[in-house]
Amino acid sequence: MERSFKREVEALRLGAGEVFRGEGILAVTKALLQAGVSYVGGYQGAPVSHLLDFMVEAEDLLGDLGVHVETCTNEASAAAMLGASINYPLRGAVTWKSIVGTNVAADALSNLASPGVLGGALIILGEDYGEGASVIQERSYAYAMKSSMWLVDPRPDLPTIVTMVEKAFELSEASHAPVMMELRIRACHVTGEFVAKNNRRPAYSSRNRIEGPPRFEYARLAHPPVIFTQERLKVEDRLPAARAFIREQKLNEVLPGLYDEVGIIVMGGLTTSVLRALKRLELADIFGESLIPIYVLNVVYPLVPEEVRLFCANKRAVLVVEEGSPDYIEQQINVELRRADIRTKVFGKGPLPATGEYTSEVMIKGLAAFVAETRPIGLDVTAVSGMALAAVDHKSAAAKTVGELPMRPPTFCTGCPERPVFSAIKLAQRELGPTHISADIGCHAFATFAPFSMGNSILGYGMSLASAAAVGPNLDRRPIAVMGDGGFWHNGLITGVTSNLFNKGDGILIVMQNGYTSATGQQYMPSSKASRQGAAPGMDIEQTLRSLGVKWLRKVRSYSVGTMAKTLKEAMRTAERGLLKVIIADGECQLARQRRVRADDAARLARGARVVRTRFGVDDEVCTGDHSCIRLSGCPSLTVKPNPDPLRTDPVATVIESCVGCGLCGEVAHAAVLCPSFYRAELVRNPHIWERLMDRLRRFVIGRLGGRAEAIS
Ligand code: SF4
Ligand code: SF4
Repeated sequence: MERSFKREVEALRLGAGEVFRGEGILAVTKALLQAGVSYVGGYQGAPVSHLLDFMVEAEDLLGDLGVHVETCTNEASAAAMLGASINYPLRGAVTWKSIVGTNVAADALSNLASPGVLGGALIILGEDYGEGASVIQERSYAYAMKSSMWLVDPRPDLPTIVTMVEKAFELSEASHAPVMMELRIRACHVTGEFVAKNNRRPAYSSRNRIEGPPRFEYARLAHPPVIFTQERLKVEDRLPAARAFIREQKLNEVLPGLYDEVGIIVMGGLTTSVLRALKRLELADIFGESLIPIYVLNVVYPLVPEEVRLFCANKRAVLVVEEGSPDYIEQQINVELRRADIRTKVFGKGPLPATGEYTSEVMIKGLAAFVAETRPIGLDVTAVSGMALAAVDHKSAAAKTVGELPMRPPTFCTGCPERPVFSAIKLAQRELGPTHISADIGCHAFATFAPFSMGNSILGYGMSLASAAAVGPNLDRRPIAVMGDGGFWHNGLITGVTSNLFNKGDGILIVMQNGYTSATGQQYMPSSKASRQGAAPGMDIEQTLRSLGVKWLRKVRSYSVGTMAKTLKEAMRTAERGLLKVIIADGECQLARQRRVRADDAARLARGARVVRTRFGVDDEVCTGDHSCIRLSGCPSLTVKPNPDPLRTDPVATVIESCVGCGLCGEVAHAAVLCPSFYRAELVRNPHIWERLMDRLRRFVIGRLGGRAEAIS
């Protein structure tokens, strides 16, 4: 995996009274152990990948406690794990990135939520919403409402997060419904501390197994006719039970304030942002004491009507701070107030925008607009407006001074094995003309940015081949679907390959075999060369495809641009129709490789052993300055510098220090017949004696010829 969590894992062992310090997501992991969880599973994805990574690395501790950890192949299998809590008093937690992961898990979630649960079932969602997000901007809230699962959105401070994890299990058991907890990126990575409790050995686990299967109970199946009873139970039993628990346990909070004719109702996860914005408007202090009362919804679904009414009853107006659309909470509050005939005016979308992240700037503007509109008695509204203007104005002033900034789209890592495949597609298309490219989720999606700009659709993780199914029959050229090995095992094998073979599809599939689910932090997967237990899981993509009946299959080293382009042309031109053509582009994730190689090299250097590092370079005098190499590669280590020749003004290409010597520069120059300006050099540390002698000899000869040579170290 991406990094070692050995130090953090030690924090999971802390006992009662000891102080835990760390990130929010690690606090969640500790809270699960304190709550006596029996099993944990999930599928990695930012911002919750680390939860599973911690659990995997804490295997010894979990083994002692008897907690079972499953690294699932997708979110659907993780959601289905929660089936253990339907019949047994087992507490279980699963995790994934939302909204996309929740979409994948939706079928199992519906089938879980309908019969309900006996043991506490908790789903920890990385709510990937806002400016740093990498998925479609939708809200998990819709799933909570439609399936009658409760949605916890804790205030992003560690004591609240930890308490809410523990209470979420109790809520689930008290109401027999699964509970979701949404954590935005900041909640996952906020650092803080809390006083730990002892980890709780689960009542039942692999160390204390339940005797025998449960009594057969048809009502525990999501199957007719009991689904009709289950629908009624959700509304008539589970919902009131959940509301009663939230109210009695005081899961939501009210922060009092001086100007109590108005108020703010905020999703728990946005509380600190609201308090910070109020502080900037001098309406709160740095300790979070607000002058305007705030009702903090640590549980955003279901709302508790009695609490809403109580908070709003004596207020002229409230502002609902609810990020994203639709405005589910604002609508529910309006309905509750109308039902109770309470005349409080509800603001929300209006002062605050309907879409996009509620950043500090957005909050300041929204709160100032609310105050200006409602004019609380005794508050200097003009001063607040002035402070808001001052707080946000500097940005436009800075933008005017700096001017338009260039876009900096993300790109492949230096030396990535996936980049050369797109160079090869570019070269093949020069000859064949452009064709439809079905892109997918994963590092290879960076090819949708310049300089490749390849990809006509992205339909989900592992969906590229399936999404080309109706394109091929309607296009005069075969479409190319690109999929990572992570996507292949997540969904692509069944959704794409099996469906294509079943329907005698004629497309081309490129599988990027880099050995890890790289984009989420290099977790192992079924075809990795190792696993968390050490030995390789032993599943092979080529064998799997052949066993399914794929006949046209080529495995090409991903850095061999010429061979890859030739293979692609063959796949495009072959007369064999109704046959899936698969190219496995084989090359280990360079980031993973570098982490290994650098550690090995450092150890060798420390021992005084010989270490060789390959680098590519560009000869300034030969470079023509047309930059075709850059357009075909896009490697961040291949850039431009001023031309050292005073008679030539065009900048020349140059390879900078971060080059890892992947060889693509040489391959591209050769395959595309570019100018012969690239050279390959080897930097030798701790050279052999004969290498030193050869170096001296060379430098002597070069010196005699009037040149200069760099010494080897
Ligand atoms: S993480 Fe690995 S596969 Fe992803 S862009 Fe970097 S080198 Fe390429
Ligand atoms: S050889 Fe070229 S493509 Fe490879 S890392 Fe170096 S500069 Fe980048």
